[in-house]
This record gives sequence, C-alpha cells and structure tokens, in this order.
Amino acid sequence: MMDCLFCKIAAGEIPSKKVYEDDLCYAFYDIDPQAPTHFLVIPRQHIESAAAVDASNSAVVAHCFEVIAKITKELGLESFRVVSNIGEQAGQSVFHLHFHVLAGRDMTWPPG
Ligand code: AMP
Ligand code: ZN
Repeated sequence: MMDCLFCKIAAGEIPSKKVYEDDLCYAFYDIDPQAPTHFLVIPRQHIESAAAVDASNSAVVAHCFEVIAKITKELGLESFRVVSNIGEQAGQSVFHLHFHVLAGRDMTWPPG
C-alpha cells in the first residue's frame, strides 16, 4: 500500500532496527519501547488489522506467530506478551497489522 509506514519499513524504504525477516514477515524494534524488549512483527502483505484476517491471509498470520516463537526462543525470552491493537479506541495508531512483543518486566492485567 502506497502510504503505509509499515509497508515502507518492510520494503526497506524507511530505516528500522531489524530483528528478523523472511519472505512473509518482518520484525523490528519499536521506536518507542514500552518494555526492556519491545519489537513488532508484521506481515509483508498489507493487512489493516487483525479484524481484516480471513481465509485468504490467515496463513501469513499463523506464520507471524511461528516467527514470534522462533525469535523469542533465540532471544532467550521465556515470558513475554503479544499484543495487537485493533482500531483507534484500542490504541491502534498504524493501520498495518502488527504484533507487539513485550518482555523484560512485570506486566499488569488487565491492560489499561
Ligand atoms: P499501535 O499503536 O498498536 O498501532 O502500534 C504502533 C507502534 O509502532 C507504536 O508502538 C510505535 O511506537 C511504533 N512505531 C511507529 N513508528 C515507528 C517506526 N518508524 N519504527 C519503529 N516503530 C514505530
Ligand atoms: Zn501496510
């Protein structure tokens, strides 16, 4: 998608601190970390949010979760939180599906 920040980051058109990449997804550190470890995993394909997941794109989303398991193992993270905000009221500010992976501090529940 032309004017999407995360499409541009995945394409390497906007710099980011890469954690992992493959044909289907890209992972990079959040610019405004909310925990000692905070990175984002995004599909390369533009999907607006988790509310736009359907049979045509769900394999890519499953792959993102495989990648999350792989990266966190490699980083030695035994406990972490995966968050995806959907819509403005829930705090979504970038409308390209992304999974926040947060670790390294105690987490509260329920989230604010
Ligand atoms: P959300 O608010 O759930 O849509 O998450 C968007 C996230 O993207 C926020 O945590 C931002 O800090 C992060 N973010 C925005 N711009 C960049 C960027 N250029 N590089 C890395 N992370 C970014
Ligand atoms: Zn996009």
